[in-house]
Amino acid sequence: MADIIQLLPDHVANQIAAGEVVQRPASVVKELLENAIDAAADHIQLIIKDAGKTLVQVVDNGTGMSTTDARISFERHATSKIRVAEDLFHLHTKGFRGEALASIAAIAQVEMTTRREEDEVATRIKIEGSDFIDQDVVAAPVGTSVLVKNLFYNIPARRNFLKSDNVELRHIIDEFHRVALAHPAIRFDLFSNGSELFKLPSSNIRQRIVNILGGKTNEKLVPVEEETEVVHVKGFVGKPEFARKTRGEQFFFVNDRFVKNSYLHHAVTAAFEGLLKDKTHPSYFLFLEIDPESIDINIHPTKTEVKFDDEHSLYAILRSAIKHSLGQFNVAPVLDFDRDANLDTPYDYRSQQANMPAIEVDADFNPFREESAQSGSRAGRESYRSTSKSSGSWESLYVGAKNPDDFATIELESEEVSGQLFDEKEISSQNTVTYQLNRKYIVSTIKSGMVIIDQHRAHQRILYEEFLKNMTLKKGISQQLLFPLELNLSSTELSLLNELKESLENTGFAFSASGSDRLQVTGIPANVGESEAGMVLEQLLSDFQNEIPDAAYSQADKLAKTLCKTLAVRSGEPMNDAEQQSLVNNLFATKEPSVTPFNRPTFITMTVEEIDKKFI
Ligand code: ADP
Ligand code: MG
Repeated sequence: MADIIQLLPDHVANQIAAGEVVQRPASVVKELLENAIDAAADHIQLIIKDAGKTLVQVVDNGTGMSTTDARISFERHATSKIRVAEDLFHLHTKGFRGEALASIAAIAQVEMTTRREEDEVATRIKIEGSDFIDQDVVAAPVGTSVLVKNLFYNIPARRNFLKSDNVELRHIIDEFHRVALAHPAIRFDLFSNGSELFKLPSSNIRQRIVNILGGKTNEKLVPVEEETEVVHVKGFVGKPEFARKTRGEQFFFVNDRFVKNSYLHHAVTAAFEGLLKDKTHPSYFLFLEIDPESIDINIHPTKTEVKFDDEHSLYAILRSAIKHSLGQFNVAPVLDFDRDANLDTPYDYRSQQANMPAIEVDADFNPFREESAQSGSRAGRESYRSTSKSSGSWESLYVGAKNPDDFATIELESEEVSGQLFDEKEISSQNTVTYQLNRKYIVSTIKSGMVIIDQHRAHQRILYEEFLKNMTLKKGISQQLLFPLELNLSSTELSLLNELKESLENTGFAFSASGSDRLQVTGIPANVGESEAGMVLEQLLSDFQNEIPDAAYSQADKLAKTLCKTLAVRSGEPMNDAEQQSLVNNLFATKEPSVTPFNRPTFITMTVEEIDKKFI
């Protein structure tokens, strides 16, 4: 294979954020580990002496370099990772500046040994203070080993400036953790002064976290996962009760690169609001996968800062995903007080006649009667529960009803509307057999074969149409809150909400300003759980902050989109049979069942013929 490293032309080099790469031994560690990862190594060893002051060595089993590449790799702006300025917007590698090896070689004694698989022998190059010393042919395994000795040996002032070994080693370990957490599939070893500090086998993220932070961590982790058009979020947050006084275990990775971002950090702490003891900090290990074109990593030489095109959406997504996980794993306390379940209006009353009262009062209501613990907790998901007649969990949502048959008059939507999509009412409402696959898809049969429905997307479509309809027909059902919710908002946020007031009231919200920075919410839509109300409004604010659509229609549309996005059942959530069937029936009762409001497909079908073909 040909040589691959080139010198970047000046006009490209000039676009790269200038600045010092090497501040301390840990900076060398970071750059060398990143080079090993970019070289596709699956085993990386880090060897340290005297907290890196005497030696930092990284040995990898990656691609290695040709002799010419090894020589040129120490030149400034020498890189194999980008060619033209445009490449800066599609980065898939850790490095791209072509400056690390040059900077390191300028202030240390460096020895690099490298061999590619196709070469029989390895190249060894020695450089001191940017001066080429020596080049040899040696025997060595495939991969690269870089030794960096006596950092700042030629700049005594800088060397004296280094902190104690303890402090410098701490920095090194921090960098090692960041890189190792971002790449759990890669094996990593760390040796310091001859003893092994870490031996990390190839594993999944959870095991990697546990291997680094200790066995007890496992029980503290709550998984987070959210897939949206802008970002895929996965990872873990620590349970609130384990939050620590120090801000140690907080990690954001964007496209497998550790980054610091105070705005996103704020989104995480906002999700924990009310759950943490004073002055404690939540742990988090969050991995964001995002289109490289929508981020800029070229804003700081150490590449730990990142600029996002759409920070506001990320904020909202991250916060709601974490809130959701905390709630789902029963970590968040149920914020709802135990209320009269009769005040919970089943959402899907829309198929009822107009004379159905929004709020029923149960004359037999006895506040001392025990209610199911479930009654108040997760009120926000009625829209796929509402039409089922026999589900245990559905009934328990309305335990206050004297008789479950009270709801028997609710018609199944698909009885009225289906047939538009599938011939001859392919999905029959009563006897639909459904199956939840991977807590993500609902599989069901249709006459011609089978249908696979994405539960999150389907629910978005259902909720979207419900909200839109309520807003345009001005008949959203409101549940009155016994204890109004108080939200602290800025005056801009308050005036924004005022502009949306009419549409919001039509969905079922009722609120008024109380003072210059407080909002009092007295009513919420029937299909929003009380504990979700604050989050929904905040999400709304952040979605609308940048642009308020002018036309009434697009305002309603945007509002419905925000609401459905926030409230739709997530993938990962289990759904019982009745919920699944409701979801299927309600989906096919919508006007446009096949796509989400964001134009993504909600389901796919497979005909028997197609299945037959697969067996040929
Ligand atoms: P950058 O990583 O920004 O490209 P560096 O100065 O870190 O710049 O490295 C220069 C070039 O040297 C890289 O682009 C890569 O081609 C090569 N290189 C550096 N380290 C390794 C390694 N461990 N294995 C293989 N190639 C390497
Ligand atoms: Mg590099």
